[in-house]
Amino acid sequence: MKFAARLDPIKPSATLAVSSKAKALKAAGHDVLSFAAGEPDFPTPDFIVDAMVNAARRGVTRYLPTVGLPALRASVAKMFTNLYGVDFTQENVAITCGGKQGLYNLFQILVDPADEVIVPAPFWVSYPAQIQLAQGQPVIVPTEPDEGFRLDPADVAAAITPKTVGIVINSPSNPTGAIYDEESLLGVAELAVKHDLWIITDDIYSFVRYGGGSFINVLKLRPDLKERIFVIHGASKTYSMTGWRIGFVGAPAGVIKKLGTLQGQSTSNATAFAQHGALAAVESDHAFLDAWLAAYDGRRKRMTSMLNALPGVRCHLPEGAFYVFPDMRQVIGKSFRGETITDDLHLAHLVLEHQLVALIPGSAFGAPGFVRLSYACSMENIEKGLARLAQFVAELS
Ligand code: PLP
Repeated sequence: MKFAARLDPIKPSATLAVSSKAKALKAAGHDVLSFAAGEPDFPTPDFIVDAMVNAARRGVTRYLPTVGLPALRASVAKMFTNLYGVDFTQENVAITCGGKQGLYNLFQILVDPADEVIVPAPFWVSYPAQIQLAQGQPVIVPTEPDEGFRLDPADVAAAITPKTVGIVINSPSNPTGAIYDEESLLGVAELAVKHDLWIITDDIYSFVRYGGGSFINVLKLRPDLKERIFVIHGASKTYSMTGWRIGFVGAPAGVIKKLGTLQGQSTSNATAFAQHGALAAVESDHAFLDAWLAAYDGRRKRMTSMLNALPGVRCHLPEGAFYVFPDMRQVIGKSFRGETITDDLHLAHLVLEHQLVALIPGSAFGAPGFVRLSYACSMENIEKGLARLAQFVAELS
């Protein structure tokens, strides 16, 4: 049997290798501590679940308009208007099966074969793969841990060619938790104007920020560019609704229309009753988030300080999301029980095997020599897991 060639460049997720091994060890009765999760550890708030159940009981179990429940589109438009200071209407919003499908659909309608799309690294794993699925070419622009993963517009400018069509920005970032500063975003916006590029701003972690500052965002800074800036958002991370598969796209009406054409011939609407749960979530006062953010904040500080106490490990204090992304490059090359650690994949493998701690190798995010740990887990697990990691590092020679 022959498989389609467009899947050839798509590699199986490197993150799955660690998480499936962690799951297998757990199933075999081992006390595995996993920092691999990319989702909040809190249950979805009851009022959201109730809204979904009530909708299902009322008979909201049939097809909806392809790009979403009109009331939810209107509600997300209101949320976006507040978030960005730019007027959004229902026609500027599509509801998708997760932010992931929103992104996939955007790349499918924006990228032609051989088009280049700039992706700053470290990046969320799906950007390059989804660009490749659209037969485009991801062009990776590295950022430096010593500069807090700041995005330098000069580096972006150097990566632009006549084939470049767009750039993807994710701030707060998965995996680094970094937030891009105004100067960087303004620089990128200028480049977008100069070279006629679109910008996808993935703001799925916009409500998961620490330190109380206002949300810094490219669309907010340059509302005059709203025709070329497209927003990805969703219910997963803000409301702990990862399994519900509800994402939001914000874009000019023409882009939403195209996206609707694609979605109408592929998945149709996102799950009808889940959209009613999302409606309750978006319409709420978000009061429950205060307690979640306070918990994440405590864990973020604890995890960062415990990592920085390990010899050879350096960790930037993240400003948002729920991940830390320590630099392990000084650990790689050392020897563990006579075995030289060759790279971050090998490191993650050894830590899981010998200390039963699951970390995601940085290579998956375009940053070899790093690992990602999620602190969307209990403080007790953080204390225990980091103590095990300390024991591992203490054995290195
Ligand atoms: N964007 C980023 C940066 C993410 O980390 C994720 C999920 O991990 C998504 C988008 C997609 O999330 P979902 O499809 O659950 O909305």
